[in-house]
Amino acid sequence: MEYVDEFRDPEDAKRLLKAIAALADRLGRTVRFMEVCGGHTHTIYRYGLERLLPDAVEFVHGPGCPVCVIPMGRVDDAVHLASQPGVIFTTFGDMMRVPGTGGSLLQAQARGADIRFVYSPLDALKIARDNPDREVVFFAVGFETTAPSTAVTLARASALGVSNFSVFCNHVTIAPPLRALLDGEELALDGFIGPGHVATVVGARHFDFIPAEYGLPLVVTGFEPLDILQAVEMLLEQYVSGRRAVENQYARVVREEGNTAALALMREVFALRPTFEWRGLGFIESSGYRLSEAYSRFDAELRFSMPGVRVADPPACECGSVLKGLLKPWQCRVFGTGCTPENPIGTCMVSPEGACAAYYSFARI
Ligand code: SF4
Repeated sequence: MEYVDEFRDPEDAKRLLKAIAALADRLGRTVRFMEVCGGHTHTIYRYGLERLLPDAVEFVHGPGCPVCVIPMGRVDDAVHLASQPGVIFTTFGDMMRVPGTGGSLLQAQARGADIRFVYSPLDALKIARDNPDREVVFFAVGFETTAPSTAVTLARASALGVSNFSVFCNHVTIAPPLRALLDGEELALDGFIGPGHVATVVGARHFDFIPAEYGLPLVVTGFEPLDILQAVEMLLEQYVSGRRAVENQYARVVREEGNTAALALMREVFALRPTFEWRGLGFIESSGYRLSEAYSRFDAELRFSMPGVRVADPPACECGSVLKGLLKPWQCRVFGTGCTPENPIGTCMVSPEGACAAYYSFARI
């Protein structure tokens, strides 16, 4: 299969691993590269890349799993919305099992709430058009990767004059949490495996601040195993040759300037909130989207009364440390015992992109 088979070739993998080992030897010290995106974490564990690399190269898992970063209070808000009389609440399947204080959306569905999982916000809009006597709410989550599809849906709802559709907007943006991690003093990093999906929308240049302000390299990277190995080689080459830059390993998909049409529509439909709460990272300025004034009639937070209560994670949950790259999944004391994909305590065990779920599925010793 074009663009897949050539990125899984075992001979190419051996060649890259040899080159990586030689570069690591020349560097003569351990390096820690954060893979920002949960999709990369999934690939790393699925293909056992951690075990193939020399000990001197360590992966640090980052905050780029969109389900994982939603705080418990927002899940409670979603359950509250879903439980309102007359509401059809629509969501991606991953969000159904995320635990809230009073249970998950799946449990609310079992109690009688009309909750339907959809593959696209356009599916939610269709449900609204098919049920004009009901209020249909879409639970929008995700980074710049999924925000454009919500924006397109809202533009279409506006054009069609649909009045019984609204969005509970939890879209977030990638640069502020990276800054928050780099500004903190807890984490020592040597570079980033940059998020390929998000970069498809925002463009590779979006990450220029990382070498410019923090002196670290970043390689925008695809999601096949050889993509990630090549990114590690490119990061090490930068160190050996004394450079720090943004490079684009995923040029077959990502443009330097990103998807300008999607970005323009996002600017029309969304506005940045002054601050937004992230699981494990706390409140980060200008890191989350709400609907713009022009689209505020579709904002579920304005249409319904919301509890909006900030809720602490369960005491046993160490997702915050996992999302900050400070803890490996298996170092959480409830990993694989109290917390499993069937009965998750934290969000990192729910989504396949979560580090705990990926490690549980593919890398358990
Ligand atoms: S094992 Fe469960 S509780 Fe622990 S960090 Fe992972 S998801 Fe969170």
